[in-house]
Amino acid sequence: VASVVWFRDDLRVADNGALTAAVGRGGPVVAVYVLDEVSDEIRPLGGAAKWWLHGSLEVLADRLGGLGIPLVLRAGPAEAVVTGIVEEVSADAVFWNRRYGAEHHIDGRITSRLRDAGLEVASFPGFLLNEPWDIQTGAGTPYAVYSPFWRANLDRIAHHPVAEPLPVPGSAAGRAPEVPGETLNSWKLRPTAPDWATEFAERWTPGEDAAHERLLEFVDSGLVDYVRSRDHLDVDETSRLSPRLRWGELTPRQVWHAVAHHQSEAARTFRSELGWREFAWHSLYARPDLHERNWRVAFDLFPWPPLDQDALRAWERGLTGIPLVDAGMRELWRTGTMHNRVRMVVASFLTKNLLIDWRIGERWFWDTLVDADPASNPFNWQWVAGSGADAAPFFRVFNPERQREKFDANGGYVARWLPDLDSPDYPDPIVDLAASRRAALDAWESIRH
Ligand code: FAD
Repeated sequence: VASVVWFRDDLRVADNGALTAAVGRGGPVVAVYVLDEVSDEIRPLGGAAKWWLHGSLEVLADRLGGLGIPLVLRAGPAEAVVTGIVEEVSADAVFWNRRYGAEHHIDGRITSRLRDAGLEVASFPGFLLNEPWDIQTGAGTPYAVYSPFWRANLDRIAHHPVAEPLPVPGSAAGRAPEVPGETLNSWKLRPTAPDWATEFAERWTPGEDAAHERLLEFVDSGLVDYVRSRDHLDVDETSRLSPRLRWGELTPRQVWHAVAHHQSEAARTFRSELGWREFAWHSLYARPDLHERNWRVAFDLFPWPPLDQDALRAWERGLTGIPLVDAGMRELWRTGTMHNRVRMVVASFLTKNLLIDWRIGERWFWDTLVDADPASNPFNWQWVAGSGADAAPFFRVFNPERQREKFDANGGYVARWLPDLDSPDYPDPIVDLAASRRAALDAWESIRH
């Protein structure tokens, strides 16, 4: 009999509770990854995310192979695929690491089915520092404001310290049964014609090994300057751990322990950014439809005008004539990421200057970010749009020109992504910043009460 480990957003062998438990049982272990694009609870991955997934699965298969564990790839509805494989290998135990979006309902159904059939099923924490049900207000509701939320996390950590990361388990005992799977290439996760991802590979190396390298490098040299790089666009030395955390190549507790003994302001700020990640995920756990529904219902009445397709396209392509917005959108398209400050600026510009519904921008990011995740992406879009939990107030409209002067003072960021800025082909602004800001504030006035 074998144990099955079902991998999802946890593409690593270190600090992996499910894998450690399976190996610890002593028999053969089969690992499974399911590409599920059809279950109701699943939001199919965007293009940039698929690019990352391909690279990360390659590394995972290799590392599992070293432990004598085959990684079986199958596409289809997770419930049928997982229960099918469990039967094929006559497994008597199934383990996975928890997930917190709507997909956890799939996990619940599979758990019931397998337990009814007499199998051992167990799920493990690891994706978050604290479980959502452990961090609640006195009234037993999820926090809607960040500061008390993060204080409650730090209090809990003071009493229940963040678990020490688990080491890579030893090899599985016994030969795993042969199970037919699909090949990674047959999934066509990476683009070919045209290959829009050439610069992704220059910027990123997916996979657990590179994730650890980046963490060490950041703690050694990036962290001291973190407060500055968080705002200065040309410094570009934030941790760049977001895709690694999103895909679970690293756990937040590994990151936490790597910086826990640093007492600097930079380290505290960095930890509180991990706190925003937690806040986004706890919010998603409370509201699984975060990417579809306004957190604040008053925004359901917001008078979004009919969609201006030309303006949307100009925003997507980085052709709005507003240099900082265009630089950010081109960085995103070419590299699958964008500096946090510029994400806020382009999101503010779309929702407030162009008056385009945040959900439309969120979808573009979902398709183009390598770190696109079902919690942080809608959470932050709602935060900028003003409809979210503890959101920036709607009347706070970022002025992209001021932001550029302040945070790209020597022009390095814009010059890097907009080499055509001074050419005659560079477009004139598609909106007047001041007039569109006033129109947005008028629209907001109409729902304010
Ligand atoms: P660092 O500054 O080094 O921060 C460390 C870690 O903290 C990050 O890796 C990330 O896991 C977490 N973090 C930092 N800021 C935030 C934040 N505001 N919200 C949640 N977690 C945060 N982040 C995503 O991971 N996925 C997304 O899909 C995503 N979409 C966003 C959309 C918009 C409109 C905005 C404004 C922000 C979005 N962010 C998203 C948050 C943030 O921009 C990125 O996490 C950050 O830029 C990643 O770079 P880094 O790893 O160098 O971050």
